[in-house]
Amino acid sequence: MASVQLNHIYKVYPNGVKAVNDFCMDIADKEFIVFVGPSGCGKSTTLRMIAGLEEITAGELRIGDAVVNDMEPKDRDIAMVFQNYALYPHMTVYENMAFGLKLRKLSKAEIDEKVKEAARILGITEYLDRKPKALSGGQRQRVALGRAIVREPKVFLLDEPLSNLDAKLRTAMRSEISKLHHKLQTTFIYVTHDQVEAMTMGTRIVVMKDGFVQQIDSPRNLYNFPGNKFVAGFIGTPQMNFFDGRLTQHGDKVTVTLDNTEVSLDAPASYFNKANRAYLDGSKPVVIGLRAEHISVDPKQFPYKAKCRVSHVEELGTDCQVYADFNIASEETVAESPTRVIVKAPAGSFYDIDQIIEVSLDLSHIHVFDAETEQTIAPRIPAEVVVEGVVANGALTALGTETALPAAIEAPNGKYAVVIPTDAVSLKGKIDAEVIGEEDVNGQRLVHLKVGDTILFAKLDAEEKVGKKAKIAIDLKQITLERDGEVVSAPLNCDNVLVGRLGKRKVSVEKEVNGKMKKVSELEFYLTVFGAEFPCSRALALRLANGGGQDIFNKDLELRFTPYQVTAGETGIEATVDKVVDYGSERFAVCKVGDKTVNALVGKDFAETSVRLALDAEQLAIIELANGIRLA
Ligand code: ADP
Repeated sequence: MASVQLNHIYKVYPNGVKAVNDFCMDIADKEFIVFVGPSGCGKSTTLRMIAGLEEITAGELRIGDAVVNDMEPKDRDIAMVFQNYALYPHMTVYENMAFGLKLRKLSKAEIDEKVKEAARILGITEYLDRKPKALSGGQRQRVALGRAIVREPKVFLLDEPLSNLDAKLRTAMRSEISKLHHKLQTTFIYVTHDQVEAMTMGTRIVVMKDGFVQQIDSPRNLYNFPGNKFVAGFIGTPQMNFFDGRLTQHGDKVTVTLDNTEVSLDAPASYFNKANRAYLDGSKPVVIGLRAEHISVDPKQFPYKAKCRVSHVEELGTDCQVYADFNIASEETVAESPTRVIVKAPAGSFYDIDQIIEVSLDLSHIHVFDAETEQTIAPRIPAEVVVEGVVANGALTALGTETALPAAIEAPNGKYAVVIPTDAVSLKGKIDAEVIGEEDVNGQRLVHLKVGDTILFAKLDAEEKVGKKAKIAIDLKQITLERDGEVVSAPLNCDNVLVGRLGKRKVSVEKEVNGKMKKVSELEFYLTVFGAEFPCSRALALRLANGGGQDIFNKDLELRFTPYQVTAGETGIEATVDKVVDYGSERFAVCKVGDKTVNALVGKDFAETSVRLALDAEQLAIIELANGIRLA
């Protein structure tokens, strides 16, 4: 039993293929994790890195408490089950299962006990004397599982174990593997390209595409809250319907229009509480997603109605799928037109080709994605909300509360759009709010707050209960003031970026060797940034070299740090101070280093015009620039 932790894991193959990019995940003990995605998305590579069969290019892999990047597969306490079973053909089932235990020099009695117990769990006791060729595919896969079980590993890794089986057996084995997981109470990591397998087996699913993790979530959340169009389309059968369209808000209604159709529906604005406001004025093209089960051939089932032209009906026995087109004026019935819609209908439904029918839509389940980036416009934790504000005489009135503006925020009197990031909202302020809802977003509690007519979101701990009043505060250094679409006051940039290099030199140090003090030569590592040097631990230097390669010393490294991770003082990088921005409780020096700007937290008496900036190498996010690989 063990947890598995992947920290910024990358795989770049020698031919330059970046198969896995910045994979980060904490897998808890006893979870059943499924990696799913189309062929070539990097799921097997990730699994093989966990198994130790593939070297990790960059990042840190932990099993339990141990970093295992350099540990041999056999020492990792994992067992892997492959698609092709990988059984020894000349050995019996018993011998196949016992083989690994013999190598580990377990006693005959112990081996016998473990093999028989595994055979019992898997229901293959009667085949123990058979050779693999006398077994069916499903039985062979059970033997492969048995060989893994007897080793009592901390983690089971399964690479498409069912894809060689026929559909019926696959369904049966699917539930057997789920039961096995329940019985063994061990961490399972399972790779498949089949979203149904993923949805039915995983406690959490990692959806991958082109080497990047798209979303990590429970099956239900992937279905209900897909983070982008790819996940929305990949999970669920039939595939979600997608339409090009636009959203336009008029007061408490949002009009949903689908391009090249007559469909234009007024939905309550509350359906779009979490949506980024920029998409609600009709100016940006969006992709609208609605699943077949949220559209009905019964015009009375859902409140929103639209007409479509039927192209054909697929009878599935339990129900029907009606293929139709919202573009009823179109002469053609094109199978893949951008206005095509699949609707679920009761079994036995019959429609003529080209028949125009009225369907009803459940817009409370609408999904909306940016037409270009394909990301959802309404993330479960919204990035920000925009409220109206008025600046007068050095004070901002927004959310029904007047707040004196700190010196750092310069804005002439007038009306503003105030952009408030979710991260900027906290408790213990003076703005009156009511907690109207809460949800758990992957372990993070998100609270819905009502302030006047505005809905805000905040990541808060369990303190404030739903239905209770709360006093909230807004962190002013994070807000943006906009007028007529122009930024008048920007938030403080908390993402400082400089470029540096790793260096090394030989130094002579006094060390105790065999009880005597001796001078020995040692390598010392450091980061050079704009001529200044910062010591770098051997462990960090190794990590950089492991991920960045032998020529790491000649590579540009991007160093990222917050204003709280840099000290403005008397040692370090030479910088000139452009200005000091004062937020009242905190002050920051805006420093120029070459053509870069670095913001640094400073004390209340700070008044220097030139300064030196000190960094702690161990605290930095370090990215190898040429290949975009995060090394630390
Ligand atoms: P999946 O398991 O999702 O089908 P893989 O992890 O096998 O995908 O592969 C991910 C990507 O890495 C693919 O583009 C594949 O061609 C490439 N790849 C896999 N193995 C190697 C290898 N040994 N050398 C070079 N490229 C590889």
